[in-house]
Amino acid sequence: MHDPEMDLASFLRDVPDFPKPGILFKDISPLLASAKAMQAATDKLAAFDFGKIDKIAAIESRGFLFGVPLAMQLGIGFVPVRKPGKLPWKTNRVDYELEYGTDAVEIHQDAVDAGERVLMIDDLLATGGTMAAACQLVESCGGVIAGCGFVIELGFLNGRQKLGKHPCKAIIPIN
Ligand code: AMP
Repeated sequence: MHDPEMDLASFLRDVPDFPKPGILFKDISPLLASAKAMQAATDKLAAFDFGKIDKIAAIESRGFLFGVPLAMQLGIGFVPVRKPGKLPWKTNRVDYELEYGTDAVEIHQDAVDAGERVLMIDDLLATGGTMAAACQLVESCGGVIAGCGFVIELGFLNGRQKLGKHPCKAIIPIN
């Protein structure tokens, strides 16, 4: 059994100036390397109250690392949100702004049924652009966003603002 009081922040490695100067990258490799820490992280995500949840959707690729075990623990299905050109079936696409240029995410059109309540998962909330686009994608399929769950939140970037009315919770808030 894992320790519910485990200090999960101690399983993050700060890497300065990656992938470019000025960015302090939060490396989750030490967390992934510990089965106990991963179980504790999954339990903490599962314990958040987002009301009824029908499916988990997570964002490529680090979101998958937490979304799949969470879906299995909750006994519900998993939906991948991926970078353009990766999903083989019919897709919907949302483009979003980056600091420099734009990026996009895609979802299979039949991944979510109309009215299904979907919990969105990613490893880290920074500016919120990626998660906001993923939420739009799920809504484009007729899904309802139950909320957004993160392992890490960089609170000083105010990513929650971009997520508007969607309830937002993180295991490790960093201010
Ligand atoms: P954003 O769209 O700005 O909220 O960025 C979120 C995405 O970028 C997440 O999928 C993260 O994996 C990644 N990301 C952004 N900033 C960092 C950071 N400082 N450390 C690690 N990953 C980051």
